[in-house]
Amino acid sequence: MVLEVIIGPMFSGKTTELIRLIEREVFAKKKGAIFKPSLDRRYSEKEVVTHNGLRYKAYQVLPSRGGVRRLEKIATEKGIDAVGVDEIQFFPEELVEVLDRLSFTKKVIACGLNLSFRAEPFRTTMELTVRADKVTYLSAVCVRCGREATRTQRLISGKPAPKDSPLFVVGGKELYEPRCRLCYEPPK
Ligand SMILES: [Zn+2]
Repeated sequence: MVLEVIIGPMFSGKTTELIRLIEREVFAKKKGAIFKPSLDRRYSEKEVVTHNGLRYKAYQVLPSRGGVRRLEKIATEKGIDAVGVDEIQFFPEELVEVLDRLSFTKKVIACGLNLSFRAEPFRTTMELTVRADKVTYLSAVCVRCGREATRTQRLISGKPAPKDSPLFVVGGKELYEPRCRLCYEPPK
């Protein structure tokens, strides 16, 4: 019955917040599940048990139109009350329509990156954000100066990745840094 979107750069705690919000629904005896894009092209389903003994399902679906359809099918057929979706930027725009539709009967909480390493918006994140009933914009801490960071810098051997490098490259601290708008270096 509601669509919530959590956005921000890498290392801003989006997934942690998503899990917290789903777990509190599960605590209130709602059926919760978290969907995330499968980056190795495989479908998977596992059960997560929290330290409080709460249980919810975590599904990996392909970041494709088929994966989005599967997400809708699972959420509907399994009667999930609280649908969490992680890393929405990886999904095609079909996700927007599906989550918008699901949010008439379910609580939908989606999270994802605000901007690409080029500091450009991700279409799916943007489209979903403006349709949301509630938006939480998280920031990280700039590794350079300690200000609030809203950008994600991709680095290759310590230098900003070139502008023409791929939009999606999976990595962690070795590849990405949260930076504020002053410290962010636009790729060339
Ligand atoms: Zn800074």
